[in-house]
Parts: sequence; C-alpha cells; structure tokens
Amino acid sequence: MPGRPFLQIPGPTLVPERIVRAMSQPIIDHRGPRFAALVEACLEGLKGVFKTRNGHVILYPGSGTGAWEAALVNTLSPGDRALGVVNGHFSTGFARTAEAYGIEVERIEVEYGAGAPADEVERRLRMDSAHQLRAVLLVHNETSTGVTSNVAAVRAALNRAKHPALLLVDAVSSLASIDFRFDEWGVDVALTGPQKGLMLPPGMAILAASEKAISAGEKARCPRAYWDWRPVLERNKRGEYPYTPATMLLFGLEEALRMLNEEGLENVFGRHARLGEACRRAVRALGLALLCRDPTQYSNTLTAVVMPKGFDSDELIRLAYRRLELSLGVGLGAVKGKVFRIGHLGGVNELDLLGGLAGVEMALAELGVPVTLGAGLGAAQEFLLGRS
Ligand code: PLP
Repeated sequence: MPGRPFLQIPGPTLVPERIVRAMSQPIIDHRGPRFAALVEACLEGLKGVFKTRNGHVILYPGSGTGAWEAALVNTLSPGDRALGVVNGHFSTGFARTAEAYGIEVERIEVEYGAGAPADEVERRLRMDSAHQLRAVLLVHNETSTGVTSNVAAVRAALNRAKHPALLLVDAVSSLASIDFRFDEWGVDVALTGPQKGLMLPPGMAILAASEKAISAGEKARCPRAYWDWRPVLERNKRGEYPYTPATMLLFGLEEALRMLNEEGLENVFGRHARLGEACRRAVRALGLALLCRDPTQYSNTLTAVVMPKGFDSDELIRLAYRRLELSLGVGLGAVKGKVFRIGHLGGVNELDLLGGLAGVEMALAELGVPVTLGAGLGAAQEFLLGRS
C-alpha cells in the first residue's frame, strides 16, 4: 500500500525521522571515548526525564519485561513478600515475574478499568506491623486498560503507614508522555522501555534506582547475572558496559532526549493530554464507552474502547489492518475480544491522531457497528480547535 502504515498501537510508536537519521551512522567502538560521551549524555538526559537528581539510571539491551526482572532481582530475595496492585494485563505480568523468583506476592486485585486504590494499599501495609512486605509493585499507566494510577497517593499511603517497603513502579507507557516524578514521589525503582514515549525502536530496558534500592541490592539474594546492576554501575563510571551495548539505540536515545528538551517536557505532557482528550471525545461522540471509568485516571497515552455488545474487537482490528493498514491495540487478558486500544503517544501530532480516528470510524462502519461517519472526528476537531 502506498503512503505509510498507521501504527496506532500503544507502542512501539512511530520513530521520528530525526531519530532514524541519528541511528543511521557507522557503529563506533563501545570502549572508546566517543562512546563514553554518548553514555554520559544518555544517562544525564534520562535523569531529567525521570525527574531525579540523585537516582541512578541503568540501561540494558532488553525490553520492558526484562526491566521488571532487573528491578526485582536487584532488590529482593526468594521468600520475600511484596504487595502487588494488579489492575490489568501488565500488572499481572509484573506480579508473575516476581513469583517466578520465589517472591510471594500479596495481590490487591482491582477490576480492569480502575486504578490503584491507595487507601487499600495503606490498609494492607498497616496490617503488616512486622514489616515483612519488602516492596510495593505498581504499574503507573496500565497499558491494557488505559488507566493511570496515582503514584503520589501510593507513596503517601506508604508514608502514612510508616512502612519501609520499596516502591517499584512500571513507567513503561507513561515516561516521557505523562508526568512522572521519581524524586518527589519517593520511587525506589522506576522502569521503562524505549519504544513508547521515548520514540525509539524496541530493544532496551531502562531503570532508575534510588540510593535505598541500591543498598537493598547489596543484600538481595535473587539469582542474577545478566540483570545484576552492580557491574553496570561500576563500568558506567568509565563510560562502559559489562556487555556489548545497543550502540545504535543510544545514538537514537541521545537524539530523542534532545527532541524532548527542545519541545520542553511539560509541553510534551500537555500535547499528550490534548490528544488524549480529543480521542476520548471522539470515542464518546461515536456512542462508544471507555474502559476507564474514573476521569481522574484517564490515560493520556492510550484509550481503551469497549466494543458494543455482539461485536468482537479482534475482528475489528483484523479488518482495520486488512482494509486500511491501520494497526490498533488488541484487548489483552480479561478483556480479550471486548476492547480495542488506540495509542496516542510518542512523536504524534494532531493529524496523526485524526488520521487514526478516521480509520477507526471506517473500520467500525465496515464491521456493521452503527456509527455516524465523521461524528468522532468532528468532536476531536472541535476540541483541538478550542471550540468545545
Ligand atoms: N509494562 C507495560 C505497562 C507495558 O505496556 C509493556 C508493554 O507494552 C510492558 C511492561 C512490557 O514491555 P516489553 O513489551 O518491552 O517487554
């Protein structure tokens, strides 16, 4: 098909031309001075994006799933207990990864479409007067449901309960798109991947760790070799890695950080908030429902849309791709076949979103869902023009 395919999934996102160009260059020696400068620029730049002054940024070739593992094995031991907020497919994955290492996860199960209940976190922590819970596991933006949890409220719950558990936060689909404040929220480990707000191709696991997490790492007894962050931190002091790093992705990351700084991080968050709101208005104007029910928890990086009764979202997604080369996110876990997801994160602009929404309308109509063509687009356009 001529033109470009519409990748409207919540990550990987479109890689801007500038980043593609930054990665199109001869590979360099990963033990040379040019590489050391590149590493320093990336680590310092990421500190700004995580909003941390003293946190340690740690990079591995890998993915978000690997970053879960790195966060867990470097801070916990088999037999430890952790409190896990489970409100979707990815928070389930985070909890399961911990369990695979013999960590006992006490789950706070929350229905798909809702965020982390900070009061329940506080109640569970208060019940643990012996402080056996070593960590709280939380997904900031649950990509399977389009729900953003309030990390600051969970931190406040830990503080009120005077509980020393580490706060481990998955920021895979929020960092660099939705405000994230590592230091201010007292996060101990935050983890992400490059293929969402950072606008890069997939291929890295990115973490920020507090001093408290680094100290916990000295006593942690989970088996670890590749994911052990101690040799990484040690070799980073010389601008090196204990393995062959993803050099080309680092070139891309340096450019992505430049782009985020040029736009200004707060403006990046504002752009995502506008696009998120425009998308939600379009969905409502089409007579469809959002999976996220609480407006204070709406995700600005993706919108999960509930299919009307009698229609299968997998079929819609297949049709959208076949007919339009438009990729939409599938329903994951408990909402498979019931939900489709529209991604609006990374290097996206108004017309990118409107193009995707036009495709959503066409695919819905073609499937037989009773929608008025143009109704969703009109609502989004009115909002983006500041008329509603
Ligand atoms: N956590 C969240 C919130 C995600 O959205 C994803 C992937 O979409 C992951 C973890 C897993 O990341 P990856 O697919 O890079 O392994």
